[in-house]
Amino acid sequence: MKIVRFQTLQGEELYGIADREGTGRARVIQGGIYDDIMVTDRVETVANLLPPVLPVNILCIGLNYGKHARETNIAYPESPVLFVKTTNTVIGHDAPIMLPAAGADQVDYEAELAVVIGRRGKNITVAEASDHILGYTCANDVSARDWQIFKQKKQWARGKSFDTFCPLGPCLVTKDELPDPDNLPIRLMLNGTVMQDANTADMIFDVASIVSDLSRSMTLEPGTVILTGTPEGVGFTREPPVFLREGDRVTVSIEGIGDLSNPVIREA
Ligand code: MG
Repeated sequence: MKIVRFQTLQGEELYGIADREGTGRARVIQGGIYDDIMVTDRVETVANLLPPVLPVNILCIGLNYGKHARETNIAYPESPVLFVKTTNTVIGHDAPIMLPAAGADQVDYEAELAVVIGRRGKNITVAEASDHILGYTCANDVSARDWQIFKQKKQWARGKSFDTFCPLGPCLVTKDELPDPDNLPIRLMLNGTVMQDANTADMIFDVASIVSDLSRSMTLEPGTVILTGTPEGVGFTREPPVFLREGDRVTVSIEGIGDLSNPVIREA
């Protein structure tokens, strides 16, 4: 299933199953998405896509692609490196990423596969991990490098947590439709130019290992979103560096999920 969260023409916010013919309509889901999903016969027009999930936590893995770890000149981690983004960052497909009025001159993009937890768990084994996953979506781990690296003594949370810095979408694809999340082409385009072009097979820690590892520290609740790291090609390691500017459009594409595209504006 491709689950969308959307606004109807009347402004009602609903979950639905996206229509495959691209008519811009969805069959409405009654209730939530973490227990049995109840698809009704009601069909509504998708006037506006919303983030497909409202995360209870956003857990992020850093340095999880070999070539990206090398481009940042940081040694391979021995276990998944966890940092967090706060939930104020979440926006949906087509909503604008805002360059902060507080001043951030080095706002960068990061294409990532996001895992959505559907079933509560602690100390989950690698073999059990799939039982706790609802599905997958595209994420952009937008990062103000000046705040991430220089202004906060290398504490990443603030530079990663400005409003609008976590686009998610366009839909949530349930795990039955993506049986091998560790082998998905993933790309990022900036104004139509390919900036990142990789495969999740390059991840140092695969999806099941990440879920298992994180669950040893914390209970994973339904609605936890895990960003699994970004491949090589981010802006700040380029020569010359590339940072997001007003008027840009940045698009994350993962095969089997779709295109998550967002314009860039300056915060008023
Ligand atoms: Mg990241």
